[in-house]
Amino acid sequence: MAPFAGAADYAGPLFDTHLHYNQEAWDGHAGPYPPAEALARMQRNGVKAIVANSRPNAGTQTLAAARETRAAGVTVVPFVRLYRNRDDYDNWFRDDSIYEMVQAELARGTASGPYRGLGEFHLYDSANANGPVARKLIALAEQRQLAVLAHVDDVAIDLLMANAPSRGRSLRLIWAHTGIGGPPVARVQALLERYPLLMGELSYRPGLTCDGGTLCPEWRALILKYPERFLVGSDTWVNQRWSAYDEIMRGYRTWLGDLPPEVAQRIAWGNAAGLFGIK
Ligand SMILES: [Zn+2]
Repeated sequence: MAPFAGAADYAGPLFDTHLHYNQEAWDGHAGPYPPAEALARMQRNGVKAIVANSRPNAGTQTLAAARETRAAGVTVVPFVRLYRNRDDYDNWFRDDSIYEMVQAELARGTASGPYRGLGEFHLYDSANANGPVARKLIALAEQRQLAVLAHVDDVAIDLLMANAPSRGRSLRLIWAHTGIGGPPVARVQALLERYPLLMGELSYRPGLTCDGGTLCPEWRALILKYPERFLVGSDTWVNQRWSAYDEIMRGYRTWLGDLPPEVAQRIAWGNAAGLFGIK
């Protein structure tokens, strides 16, 4: 099932919890990664389920409806992306037309079922977590039990959680990259302890792997302490990530193989499957 896995590597199913199918990957007409190409990459890497989101949302709608998706045995968990175009990256948190677009998408759903989350969204300035539309979207996510995939710093995690009606006790926040700026492991641990539903997605995480692609000691210790709180994802934010998809997944299989099998299975598959109720 996993032709790229070495003898000691994790060889079970993967849940890609950070997948984009953006316009430049394939826009319905041209582009290097039409559904058959994208699905072939998932299938040959043993990726059995994905959190799909895209700029604009047409890409997710396409994957959710594609005959190739079912043929490849891939389950699509759709998220509403907050971006129609690149300008929205810096404006979504204060633009009411984004809130309206999200509500329209939620009402519409997808061929793979209702949307299960919002994001990925970015906050390049953590203070924008308090933008009027950011506040409304976080409240909406908690009320509707939608997960949130957030590319933010550790300061913004506290701000987003504070804006949830439960003050963060009930918000299912997936922290993209577990902090791409590399906040210290102790800070990550403190946030995991403070917010019981906070999960860390590990693509691009600085300091995660050391020699030979195995886990660095302090990350190995953190993952063993919180085996139910981490996820893996490809982050196909540019087409180069689609061309590197095999290597990205092989990299995960390498360090997952360095963990006890039941822990590896949770991070590769079980945590996300449990979050979204996938068998
Ligand atoms: Zn991303």
